[in-house]
Amino acid sequence: MLERKGLLFILSGPSGAGKGSMVKGIIERRDDIFLSISATCRSPRKGEVERGSYQFLSREEFEDNISRSEYLEWAEIYGNLYGTPKEPVFRALNEGRNIILEIDYQGALQIKRIYPDAIFVFVLPPSLEELRQRVIRRDSETQESLETRYYSALEEIHYLERYDYFIINDKLEESIEKLNAIITAETCRVGQDVLTLLSSDYWKPKE
Ligand code: 5GP
Repeated sequence: MLERKGLLFILSGPSGAGKGSMVKGIIERRDDIFLSISATCRSPRKGEVERGSYQFLSREEFEDNISRSEYLEWAEIYGNLYGTPKEPVFRALNEGRNIILEIDYQGALQIKRIYPDAIFVFVLPPSLEELRQRVIRRDSETQESLETRYYSALEEIHYLERYDYFIINDKLEESIEKLNAIITAETCRVGQDVLTLLSSDYWKPKE
């Protein structure tokens, strides 16, 4: 069997595009991809602690971790810090596990510099009006942060050109299927590891 390093998938897109539901769907559908749990210093929303959505830290703890270079990337979003713990991601990739990060464009751009082999997928809402409605329907936000999120979303969409794939998330099941297809295709991509194997004894006929 060909043993490959894991692949790193980055999923970004504006708040309300449906990244969270897509990630949940793909994790349920495939047993060869794992979600990286981010750290944040924002307060947990209802039910989040039980679901283990984030590692919740104080700002001080988060900043200590930054000073110890413990994050693969981190960013300040809507006044809170969010980051991807480095060690679990590299360990998983080295063990051949595929990892998906659900992070914003600032984090994605940092990863592009340090890990250009990552695969970048951008999720778009079907329309800006639909995005506005989805953001409003989320009952966990105050009016002020709804507006912040909507205007940030408009800005974030400009970074689409830095990504490899885009998915317009109109019907969730179809979007999950598209993400599934991207992951499958990327696991079949010819890489240096495959070429090295082909030129090795592995394929030579036994005498
Ligand atoms: P929320 O507060 O709604 O859970 O997340 C707000 C934004 O932070 C979303 O766009 C989400 O993708 C992003 N985010 C979550 N975790 C991380 C992370 O570890 N790094 C970065 N850069 N962004 C993150």
